[in-house]
Amino acid sequence: MRLYKIKKSKIDNKGRGLYATKDIKEGTKIINYKGKIITNKQVDESDKYDNGKPIYLFTLNKRYTLDGDYPFNVAGLINHSCNPNSQYDGKGLKIWITAIKDIKKGEEFTCDYGFGFDEDYKQFPCKCGAKNCCGYIVREESRWRINKKFSMSNKKKLVNNSR
Ligand SMILES: [Zn+2]
Repeated sequence: MRLYKIKKSKIDNKGRGLYATKDIKEGTKIINYKGKIITNKQVDESDKYDNGKPIYLFTLNKRYTLDGDYPFNVAGLINHSCNPNSQYDGKGLKIWITAIKDIKKGEEFTCDYGFGFDEDYKQFPCKCGAKNCCGYIVREESRWRINKKFSMSNKKKLVNNSR
């Protein structure tokens, strides 16, 4: 039995999302993230990838990137949340989605898209509805740049990361 079904998204009201078809335990592999393997050089040179935000691109290693921007990549329908219940995992040239919390039947799967903070962040508003939503699709470690209230919880990390 598949662990997911496609339904209209509660987060992206113009789009679809993936929903749990049963209760899922933390650590469960939910779905493969399918795409085409391209070289990093192709990413640099093609106009297709020239839109700033690599929503569907995963750098696999020094040489290869996975481009998941295809209709057959069902996992590409998973929406971003500031409080996600799943994450992208990978090994070698494979990427998949793993539950990072126990997920109840009927819940929408969400991941952190991991966008960095840059001058374009306002192009990608977030409507995930999580209590800790910072209003934009930006990875957790960078949210304090948008809203100072996130700086407290990230203080420890920042100290650790300071060079
Ligand atoms: Zn959010």
